[in-house]
Amino acid sequence: MIPTRSDHVARGVAETHPIVITRAQGSRVWDTDGREYLDFIGGIGVLNIGHCHPRVVEATSRQISTLMHTCFQVAGYEGYVQLAARLNALVTGGPNKTLLVTTGAEATENAIKIARAFTNRPGVIAFTGGFHGRTLLGLSMTASGTGYRQNFGPFASEIYHAPYPYEYRGWSTTRALEGLHAVFESRVSPSQVAAIIIEPQLGEGGFVPAPPEFMRELRRIATAHGIVFIADEIQTGFGRTAKMFAYEHSGVEPDLVTIAKSLGGGLPLAAVVGKAAIMDAPLPGGLGGTFAGNPVACAAALAVLDVFEQEGVLEQAARQAEMTSAALSALARECSHIGDVRGLGAMMAIEIISPADDAPDAAAAQRIVDRARAGGLLLLKAGIHKNVIRLLPPLTTPVEDLARGLEIFADACRAR
Ligand code: PMP
Repeated sequence: MIPTRSDHVARGVAETHPIVITRAQGSRVWDTDGREYLDFIGGIGVLNIGHCHPRVVEATSRQISTLMHTCFQVAGYEGYVQLAARLNALVTGGPNKTLLVTTGAEATENAIKIARAFTNRPGVIAFTGGFHGRTLLGLSMTASGTGYRQNFGPFASEIYHAPYPYEYRGWSTTRALEGLHAVFESRVSPSQVAAIIIEPQLGEGGFVPAPPEFMRELRRIATAHGIVFIADEIQTGFGRTAKMFAYEHSGVEPDLVTIAKSLGGGLPLAAVVGKAAIMDAPLPGGLGGTFAGNPVACAAALAVLDVFEQEGVLEQAARQAEMTSAALSALARECSHIGDVRGLGAMMAIEIISPADDAPDAAAAQRIVDRARAGGLLLLKAGIHKNVIRLLPPLTTPVEDLARGLEIFADACRAR
């Protein structure tokens, strides 16, 4: 008997699309029935340069037959250090240092450990709608839906949530900042706060960009109180917003940046990059991991960076952003159930509502996703109410594929 998912895999691992993929290339995937789909999910923002990019395949194939593993804290290898040097140069400010780990959750957790070691304070400010991982400290910071938290508590202590500025749902920058000051007055003094961690644009929380003035005010507060300012760029990073990192849109300089997803071009790799004085706060032995910064994943990331430098990926992202924004804005004028079109660069989404009362309409959003799949396009939802449809196609998607995908999406929206 062929083993089935429902018989053998823990049901806590959800299934967005009931298909089984056997092969992928660029922005296309094929399932077991040989059916082709345009992939506008990219493994949730992991494939910004597309599936199986030839340079990533070549670099990892070479590495895999030479050296697969040592564990970097046991014995080093050049790829880790080369990648650290390139990431240090990529992140604004400096001098920077880098820690490589394996998953996004590890990156956010380690960023908090580093900030606590540097400040010798316990408190962490995170934001409603934020997603920072599923491990226990990561999940304690995550507030983008109770479905992630379930009955997994007790959660880590000393995490304080302030409102994220979500203008469409009534949270202006002013109101959100009032919420943050209320936290400082009633729950934790800024002098006890080690870190402020924020996604410059919410990912799982519904693709809500933080206004530049909000980011600048957070930077000011962090500097004034000696708090480490962490930009979680795990979903926003690696060119998604048509800049390498989304913090660049607001001109602020974070102290630490967490990176994962598209860094490894499809292999598990994540990083914390930031100011050397802060990164060096933990003593030797405090950071690391068996698989952290695996040589094959480092080879992949170095190839990803080459692709960004040599194949004009940010320019392609800007073109994708322009086409997507135009298509979605036109669609919103046609469809009264599209309440909002938003996003930075090529990190765009629409919010599906019930036109009568603007209430989030998750069922309608799901119908659109299902119709799009039937038309050959894979889409993913987001948002606390699961009524946001987000677009994460490879930034390297050819213009004609992007146009076709946007047309399938539009048809799926129009049909309702
Ligand atoms: N932070 C952000 C902003 C994310 O989008 C995610 C994953 N969706 C994470 C952290 C956690 O990353 P991972 O799933 O690799 O642990």
